[in-house]
Amino acid sequence: MAYRILVVEDELDLLDTVMFALRREGMRPIRCSNGEEALVLVGTERPDLVLLDLMLPGMDGLEVCRRLRSSEATARIPIIMMTAKAEETDAVIGLGIGADDYVRKPFGLKELVARIKTILRRHEEPRDPTPKVLRSGGMEVDPARHELRIAAEPVTLTATEFRLLHYLVKHRERVFTRAQLLDRALGNDVIVIERNIDVHISSLRRKLGEHGRKIVTLRGVGYRFSEG
Ligand code: CA
Repeated sequence: MAYRILVVEDELDLLDTVMFALRREGMRPIRCSNGEEALVLVGTERPDLVLLDLMLPGMDGLEVCRRLRSSEATARIPIIMMTAKAEETDAVIGLGIGADDYVRKPFGLKELVARIKTILRRHEEPRDPTPKVLRSGGMEVDPARHELRIAAEPVTLTATEFRLLHYLVKHRERVFTRAQLLDRALGNDVIVIERNIDVHISSLRRKLGEHGRKIVTLRGVGYRFSEG
């Protein structure tokens, strides 16, 4: 799944360059040029990492970083600060505001990408060392083998169906809109339009047999995987 990187930078040329470099890496950069907007976008876009310029008009990067760290919902999002001067770099480290790393301008794009990947890897490892087999009744969703088993028998799913099912089962009892499923479960490396989600879901239901009814349609809202 494509990583979502919120890029907060008020120098628009640099912002464009970074956006381009991250897209080329298959990531999903989200553009932003001031601190206030960054805080809003962290809430709505739920990025995997924030690349944050220190000197911003209005609320600066230090304050954005502090606010993200002080809220339970955003405290663990990795942050890489971009700093322009040696003194700023010292400030980032010295103040202990909780950035995970920093890059000093002017930085090379290769270096930037390498730092981002390192931080993302570090954040993911302890969380999910080996992806867990999810179970529901006689149904097993095995992300390591990319396999669905019903009563121990493998059921053939397309890659898209598997990802949808895994996401829904992993977050069971939660309702997702088509747009959310598209975005969070499938990411941008799968070409699916919103209405096609319905087609994938109905095919998935058929393949699930008696478990198919666990994927519940909420009219006008979206879908939920429910045990009950
Ligand atoms: Ca700046």
